[in-house]
Amino acid sequence: MQIFNTLSGKKEKFLPSNPPEVSFYTCGPTVYDLFHIGNGRTFIMSDILRRYLIYKGYNVKYVMNLTDIDDRIIEKSNSMKTKSSTVATQYSDAFFEDIVRLGVNEADYYPKATDHIADIIHLIKKLEEKDLAYSVNGDVFYSVDKFAKYGILSGKKLDELESGARVDVNESKKSPLDFALWKSAKPGEPYWDSPWGKGRPGWHIECSAMSNKLLGETIDIHAGGSDLIFPHHENEIAQSEGAHGQQFVKYWIHFGFLNIKDEKMSKSLGNFFTARDILQRHSVYALRLLFTQTHYRGPLNYSEELMEAATRGAEKLSNFYHELIGSIDSAETKGGTFNTDIYRDRFIEAMDDDFNTPQAVAVLFDLIKGVNKKNTDEGRISKDSLIDLKSFLDQTAIDVLGIINSEALPTKESSGLSDELIKLLIDLRQEAKKSKHYDYADFIRDGLKNLGIELRDSKEGTTFKIN
Ligand code: AMP
Ligand code: ZN
Repeated sequence: MQIFNTLSGKKEKFLPSNPPEVSFYTCGPTVYDLFHIGNGRTFIMSDILRRYLIYKGYNVKYVMNLTDIDDRIIEKSNSMKTKSSTVATQYSDAFFEDIVRLGVNEADYYPKATDHIADIIHLIKKLEEKDLAYSVNGDVFYSVDKFAKYGILSGKKLDELESGARVDVNESKKSPLDFALWKSAKPGEPYWDSPWGKGRPGWHIECSAMSNKLLGETIDIHAGGSDLIFPHHENEIAQSEGAHGQQFVKYWIHFGFLNIKDEKMSKSLGNFFTARDILQRHSVYALRLLFTQTHYRGPLNYSEELMEAATRGAEKLSNFYHELIGSIDSAETKGGTFNTDIYRDRFIEAMDDDFNTPQAVAVLFDLIKGVNKKNTDEGRISKDSLIDLKSFLDQTAIDVLGIINSEALPTKESSGLSDELIKLLIDLRQEAKKSKHYDYADFIRDGLKNLGIELRDSKEGTTFKIN
């Protein structure tokens, strides 16, 4: 298997330290708001990489952190006149609800920075002992000049960075590139006790401390959006390798941006759709198909047209799968054979080549063509071949890519709900919305969706469609 490693700038053979174990850490959300589908792209693609490693027989230990203390959380708590921990809890809960909606498998650990303050302090003390950190009036900074390898990941040169960083005036820092490991608490800010006084951790140190605690000093894969290469991941290397004197990460993986009209989707630019909002209007399988049809490293321009094309593609895959299941029972054992292995080999070849999901998805559409052609040219396919086809789709389109709904889709006749009953639920949802119980309203809508009943809101009211 080949993986593109940001550290070397090329594809490398994947050789984890201790096969079949693989340690895998992805930078997760800062929980100050609902996440958008740009973040969602990173969460979904990271999930697919992990699932493919499992498909290949690796035993993956997968960690995604939650940044639950940070400037943006404090700002939000001030504007909401509440505690920062209340904001963090509210949006952590929302994060967990939304990743389930995105079909993302649960990580082995979701560490939160505030649960690891002791580990963070311990790591900062180690850096101080090694003279890589210094404290000034309750703040602690990393001394970038003292880490010779600084810039190794991003390819940035220290002198160029220094001339570019002059604008960052912070009286306490010895050098403009030095970054905060510990920040002293300003009046009214949340704080923890530390050897340097009351304060809170900087952002970069939490990932170094938590990955070390849960996965050890050297981890196989560390991933995140490409916006994190510099400074976040560069600083993580400086901290972890500075403290432990060991290689921190073997393979650095970075996801391309989800863009809107060629601009990165971000909260600050205001050009975003929350994952929640998109999944009100589109199926998760269509969204995942859209994401997998672009390579994870490349940029992806989101548009409604692309989403509609993906919806048609996802429906085609799903209809094929369910028709296949429907035909197995009545299939003859004597029918023609269909060679699924050719497609299995092509799927593996594509995914082994730096997780080439667009190629892997193309193999699935080719398979549909191949099956249809075989059926028309040579009569029905045998039962054994159909069973093999189904297990191939189960292992690839469902277990790895998550682009087909494996649940049987109910027909109008089998949904078992009369139109009157559905209308009653629509009225109940309306009442819930009126009294601002949006969670209940979403619960009803999602529950109906799982039964194959899609609600459509318009100015005239809500209608439904049975899929
Ligand atoms: P944040 O909550 O901003 O810290 O971001 C959570 C994760 O989403 C990080 O790994 C980011 O790199 C990633 N991310 C943020 N914006 C985008 C985007 N537009 N496209 C892809 N990934 C993104
Ligand atoms: Zn991180």
